[in-house]
Amino acid sequence: MTVRTRVAPSPTGDPHVGTAYIALFNLAFARSHGGQFLLRIEDTDQQRSTPESEQAILDSLRWLGLEWDEGPDVGGPNGPYRQSERKDIYLDHVQKLIDGGYAFKCYRTSEELDALRAQKESAEVRTAIKASDLELPAEEVARREAEGMPFVIRMRVPEEGVCVVNDMLRGDIELDWAQVDAQILLKSDGMPTYHLANVVDDHLMGITHVIRGEEWISSAPKHKLLYQYFGWDMPQLCHMPLLRNPDKTKLSKRKNPTSIMFYERMGFMPEAVLNYLGRMGWSMPDEREQFTRDEMFGNFDISRVSLGGPVFDVEKLRWLNSVWLRDLSPQDFATRFAGWGLKEERVMPLIPHIMPRVEVFSDVAPLAGHFLSGMPALKAEDFAHNAYDEDKLMQTLQFGLWQLEAIRHWDRDAIQKRMFALASSLELKPKDFLFPFFIAIAGTPNTISVLDTMDMLGPDMSRARVRAAIDLLGGLGKKKLKKLEKEYFNVNKAIEEAIAE
Ligand code: GLU
Repeated sequence: MTVRTRVAPSPTGDPHVGTAYIALFNLAFARSHGGQFLLRIEDTDQQRSTPESEQAILDSLRWLGLEWDEGPDVGGPNGPYRQSERKDIYLDHVQKLIDGGYAFKCYRTSEELDALRAQKESAEVRTAIKASDLELPAEEVARREAEGMPFVIRMRVPEEGVCVVNDMLRGDIELDWAQVDAQILLKSDGMPTYHLANVVDDHLMGITHVIRGEEWISSAPKHKLLYQYFGWDMPQLCHMPLLRNPDKTKLSKRKNPTSIMFYERMGFMPEAVLNYLGRMGWSMPDEREQFTRDEMFGNFDISRVSLGGPVFDVEKLRWLNSVWLRDLSPQDFATRFAGWGLKEERVMPLIPHIMPRVEVFSDVAPLAGHFLSGMPALKAEDFAHNAYDEDKLMQTLQFGLWQLEAIRHWDRDAIQKRMFALASSLELKPKDFLFPFFIAIAGTPNTISVLDTMDMLGPDMSRARVRAAIDLLGGLGKKKLKKLEKEYFNVNKAIEEAIAE
């Protein structure tokens, strides 16, 4: 048997370090068994998936030095590798499930489902929603069908009993069928859900080992059942521990930059980032901290993965990166530094903003040095401004940060809309409102528009700088944060309404 693994990201945002981590372990497993690794794009959520996000994921994984044998950009014998291009395959398969009596059309309205959920919530022992709760008498189904009411296709799931799922790291896991819903397989728009598409594709693409994050354990019973319904062998499952923030909570962009692009922008070496990801729950047999991708693959043994939540600590990553940097020759250092800081994609968008403002080249660095730096070196006094007292300043920065976190498609227009809407609800003139953001992001108000700057720096770098400013100003304790969250609720509601118009 040839080992075949895959990574299956959904292109719904910035390329996440978690995706790179899972990709790395899948590739390591495949390579250490002389197998193949493929990349599949899971874009069945049509509202949230974007081609830009897909491109950024491919670019970031390549930047890290990961490669795939089959995928949407390199092709392969099992394509297409983008789920949105495989709709007919899912329709055929869901039909087989209906014909076999394993799935059914469900015409329930959202009001009926809400009522059903409420009823389940109030029961003594909460159980999942099953076919027996949902199925309507045949004549009612016929009536709703004749009226052209929307429907979904759901799978039948046992009402009770235990489902045993085997995991390569955990052995047998027992899950209770009573807690598993009659999962939707096909949505009313004709698109499959993750569960159907994922199982069908893993089978058709010959995947032998599914290595993915542990947040998918609860989906495993549904997947196991689908393999049974189709009469297929199930790949081996392996659920990797989730990456964590230093405070042990699940790694999230609210606490840590999670986009791979941020680490590129900060000037980390891809070798060091990959090395660090390789240390998340895994170690070399001799425990050495620095190793190359190929050294990892040569020594890879998945049973060495430990389940204690690995902490993704940017400070440790900086240290590891410094080790990698110091191994470079001065010549390589110079070449790589120039390739990072002065590469065309980075410099070109800046030029139209710089050219009108400078007289000689030596004016460029003071004007735009913050494009090459990480966190600006700031003092609390830099934020002094007569429109602000201490509380107002913190409120403005924190509300601004939350607005920046809410942006899905990061561009100047989206940033401006939210920031100006916030300015007016805080009753600040736009110029006064932007002042602390100029300081946090650029270190000075006398430079290129801060909205353009944020657009060019990208979401993670922009947010990280605002977060660093809040910390510099003393940070927000639990109590203050609670109070601000309360105040923010209505402010945000008004902004969401204003920008939706
Ligand atoms: N599309 C899923 C994700 O975004 C894939 C999960 C899996 O590997 O099964 O993580």
